[in-house]
Amino acid sequence: MIAEVIFTGTELLLGQILNTNAQYLQQTLAALGLDLYYQVTVGDNQERCARAIRQAAGRADLIIIGGGLGPTEDDISREALGEALEIPLVRDPVALSVVERFFVSRGIPMSANNLKQALVPLNGVVLDNPVGTAPGVALEHKNKLYFLLPGPPAEFARMLDGQVVPYLRRRLADHSAIICSRVLKLCGIGESTLDDSLSDLLKSANPTLAPCAKEGEIHLRLTAKAPNEAVARQMIADLEATLRLRLERYIFGAGEDTLPGVVGRLLDRNGWRVALVEEFTGGLLAHMLSTDPVAREALSGGMVLTGQALKNNLTGLPLNIFPPAGIAGKEAAGQMATAVRRIFTGSDIGIAVLENKKPSAQPGDQSLVHIATDFAGTCREKELLLRGSRSRAARRAAEAALILLWR
Ligand code: ATP
Ligand code: MG
Repeated sequence: MIAEVIFTGTELLLGQILNTNAQYLQQTLAALGLDLYYQVTVGDNQERCARAIRQAAGRADLIIIGGGLGPTEDDISREALGEALEIPLVRDPVALSVVERFFVSRGIPMSANNLKQALVPLNGVVLDNPVGTAPGVALEHKNKLYFLLPGPPAEFARMLDGQVVPYLRRRLADHSAIICSRVLKLCGIGESTLDDSLSDLLKSANPTLAPCAKEGEIHLRLTAKAPNEAVARQMIADLEATLRLRLERYIFGAGEDTLPGVVGRLLDRNGWRVALVEEFTGGLLAHMLSTDPVAREALSGGMVLTGQALKNNLTGLPLNIFPPAGIAGKEAAGQMATAVRRIFTGSDIGIAVLENKKPSAQPGDQSLVHIATDFAGTCREKELLLRGSRSRAARRAAEAALILLWR
């Protein structure tokens, strides 16, 4: 069964509210094994909404319309469904009782325009709304199944779970399928490089593979559709094995894993402790590590040094953190990583994140950043040329430092 979803609401098109109903509905449909090919958002305009419904009916078997069931002029979903299917709206006694019950339970008078909420397309089945005024509607018409659901998220979710899903389960009982998915998380690889190395797999129809670029990471969603969960999970496991053969060094985790969490587990497993000296990232790296409970335990200490402190060669530290005059760039970062490892006793690893302040080094809004790790005396460095806002660049630098630790 192919589903299509139509959300009504000019406020959705204007970006005034986030369409949270969409995510909830998409997850619900996927769990039912339904294919969703199109999702349409349309303003509070009856004619355009009716057009969207006719279009959906031309390419889907199940059409769910969310929002626009209120009592006011701009609530047009009932009317649009009637217009699209050319069926009249009739005042339904069951729908009327749902509306009236709401007002009685609140002890407030019902106004005349609420009568509109008792209108139902002819032959529509009224869906009770236990938490609001607007009854929902299920309608079977010319082999298609239509649902009207109210927009407020609490009502939408409640009616979806309580009434639409059981309705659909009954309909699907004979030809059920299940959709499972798993997300693999990658870092240190660009999206286009990834696309190139996966071009054959990206064409697969089942299981599907969908990359999604996130800040500093790429998520790969593996989705399989099968008659039961065991088969779907096996298809995903097979695809994951192929991906790991090609991309193992970039895959840092899956599902809810985070980069600081994965690094934390690595440090914890080996009993390693880390000390940080941050100039460019201003403490962000320490913050990222300390938000994960395991990584936090592996942090032996950190220092945030401003460019000014570096210039003034701050004194009074147990061991001079500053490299001798004349030493800059990656060499300076390496020496500072070693120094910070020694300052915080018991540290196995020192990390330094520094910006190269040479004027020639950073044209425009670019930052040239040096990251160094000292692991029991062995240094590794990385140089990054980062563009964009300062906060974004700092985030990228902190993530690069985590990747350097993880690898
Ligand atoms: P009402 O009786 O409140 O008018 P309705 O069924 O007509 O309900 P809408 O008018 O479309 O629904 O939306 C009511 C409120 O519900 C909106 O102001 C908005 O806050 C919220 N809402 C509607 N649609 C969505 C959505 N897709 N995602 C998140 N919130 C939504
Ligand atoms: Mg409304």
